[in-house]
Amino acid sequence: MASITMEHIVKQYGDGFPAVNDVSLDIDDGEFVILVGPSGCGKSTLLRMIVGLEDITSGELRIGDKVVNDKAPRDRDLAMVFQNYALYPHLTVYENIAFPLKLQKGQYPAEEVDSRVRRAAHLLELEEHLDRKPANLSGGQRQRVAMGRAIVRQAQAFLFDEPLSNLDAKLRGQMRTEIARLQRNLGITTVYVTHDQTEAMTLGDRVAVMRRGILQQVASPRGLYEQPLNLFVAGFIGSPPMNFLTGQVHGDVLRLPIVDVPLDERLRAAVGDRELVIVGIRPDDFEDAEVLAEDKRAGGVTFDASVDVTEWLGEVLYAYVPYEIHESVRAKLDELDRELEGEGMRSQLVVALESMSRIRDGDTAELWIDPAKIHVFDPESGDNLTRDEQRAAELEEDAINQRRRALERARLRAERDGARQPA
Ligand code: ATP
Repeated sequence: MASITMEHIVKQYGDGFPAVNDVSLDIDDGEFVILVGPSGCGKSTLLRMIVGLEDITSGELRIGDKVVNDKAPRDRDLAMVFQNYALYPHLTVYENIAFPLKLQKGQYPAEEVDSRVRRAAHLLELEEHLDRKPANLSGGQRQRVAMGRAIVRQAQAFLFDEPLSNLDAKLRGQMRTEIARLQRNLGITTVYVTHDQTEAMTLGDRVAVMRRGILQQVASPRGLYEQPLNLFVAGFIGSPPMNFLTGQVHGDVLRLPIVDVPLDERLRAAVGDRELVIVGIRPDDFEDAEVLAEDKRAGGVTFDASVDVTEWLGEVLYAYVPYEIHESVRAKLDELDRELEGEGMRSQLVVALESMSRIRDGDTAELWIDPAKIHVFDPESGDNLTRDEQRAAELEEDAINQRRRALERARLRAERDGARQPA
C-alpha cells in the first residue's frame, strides 16, 4: 500500500486541449478518494495518468516516495478494476483470481498462489463459487472476482473507473456497500472515478470535484455538502440539488423571490457591498411550518408558498414551488444548469419535507427556513461568500478521525481473521 501524490499535473491532448489542468492532490496511504464531475471534466484522464495508460504532459506523480511519471503501467504496481470486469470466460473463478500471479511466471510457488487466492476468496465471500465460470455468476459476483484479481497481486493501490455503471440500480446499491466494506477491511489506497454524486458521497473518505480539467474542491462528503467552495460544487453535490435564487439587498433584508430574509451579522458580512447575490438553499433546509415545534419556528422565517406539485416517497415529501429568476443572474444559472446536466428546472424550488406533512398539490403552504442555513454566492465568480473556514476544518478533522478508527478496526479484524484462516 502507498500514498499517491499529484503535483501540478497537466494533460494536453494532441490538439492542445488541457483535459487536466494543474491538478495537485495528495492521497493518503489507505485512503479512499473519489474523482467526480460531469462528463468531460477530465476525471478518467487523470485516473489513466495515475495508472500509466496516458502520458503526463507536465507535473509530477509519485506513488509512495517514487516518481513514476515515466514508469510503464506494469511497473507501477497498481490494480485497475474496469467497468466490464475483463474476466476470462473459459477460466473458473479460481483461475481468474489466480491469473495475475501465474502471469508473473515462476515468481510464486503453487502453494503461495493457492493461499493468496483462498484468502482473497474468503475476503470476498467467493469461496463457494471458486469452481464456477463467470457466465454463471451474478453481476455483483463478477465484480468481486475482478476485485479478487486485484487483491491477490497485493498492489499498492486500487483504481476503479466507473465500475458500477453497467449494473441496475439495486445491484449498484449493493455493490457500493460491498466496495466500501472491502476497502475498509483491506485498508488499501483507492482512487475511484464516477460521475454519480451518490456514489461519490457514500463511498469516499474524500471527494475531489472536477470541472473542465480543474480541481474545484477536495473534501469529505460532509465538507462538500455543508461548506462548498463555490456555486459549481454546491450545485453538483446533493440530490435533489441545491436551489438557487436571486438575492437582492434592500436595507436590512435580503429579498428572495419567495421571502425577505433579515440580514443578520453573518449574511451582512457575506453580502458586503453587493446589491445582488445568488442564494443557495438545500431542499432539506425547508420545513412545513405547520408541523414545526414552536421554539424552532421562532429561530427562522416563514412564508406562504404556492405549491405546484408534490411527490410523496414514503420517507420524504417533495414539494415544487415555482418562482421567478431575476434576469441579471439567469445566464449564470442557465450555464450552471447546462454544466451540471440539469433538467432546466431552475425556476422551481424543490423542497424536501417530512413525510407526515399534509401539504398537497395546489396548496398555499406555510414554509419555514433557517437563515443560518442559507448559502450566499458571488454572482460573478460563483465563490461561496458564507463558507465557514473553521467549520470546514472541523468537518475534515472529524472525517480523518473516523477513517483512522475504521482502519484500526479493519486491522484488528484482519489480525483475528489471520489467526483463524488456514495457511
Ligand atoms: P466521461 O465521464 O464522459 O468519461 P471524463 O470526465 O472522464 O468524462 P475524460 O474522458 O477524461 O473526461 O476527457 C476529458 C476531456 O479530454 C474531454 O473534453 C475529452 O473530449 C478530451 N479527451 C479525452 N480523450 C482524448 C483524446 N484521446 N484526444 C483528445 N481529447 C481527448
